[in-house]
Amino acid sequence: MTSHHGSCLCGGITYEVTGKLREVIACHCNQCRKTSGHFVAATACDDNDLKFIKLDTLTWYRSSERAERGFCNRCGSTMFFRSDVGNMTAIMAGTLDGPSGLKMSHHIHCATKGDYFEITDGLEQRSAECARRITETPPLQPRAPEARTCPRRLRARRHSEERRMVKQVTHL
Ligand SMILES: [Zn+2]
Ligand SMILES: [Zn+2]
Repeated sequence: MTSHHGSCLCGGITYEVTGKLREVIACHCNQCRKTSGHFVAATACDDNDLKFIKLDTLTWYRSSERAERGFCNRCGSTMFFRSDVGNMTAIMAGTLDGPSGLKMSHHIHCATKGDYFEITDGLEQRSAECARRITETPPLQPRAPEARTCPRRLRARRHSEERRMVKQVTHL
């Protein structure tokens, strides 16, 4: 059986897929836009076929009530997506090493795609799910510990707290 290997940019996360990989689907939903900076192109496999070889820097971010996204907390690579239901893990296709032998199948959530480019590959563009997704309010999530300790972030937060205190004082 063919196996596929993949990794994040810094090598803190490496994995192997021993089973079949799904065709690649491009998702233009708001969450995929944010997490990737553009859109997500992901394959997927059965959870039982996904073996983590190294997961030193793997962090799971709960991006909605029903799903979480795996990323590298060192280099920032966006790697995985898994729903609470089902037994499949989506794998960002760009993290695969070497030729994947996969094809892009179609686009989803096209109504929320960025307006700065056109989809011109001729593949099917689905948009029905988008309206629902767009109206969902993302739940507030606690920040990852490493983000909390980032000096720049701490500084920014302190500044905003100081500003708020100044404002309160002015109002009094
Ligand atoms: Zn990394
Ligand atoms: Zn998406």
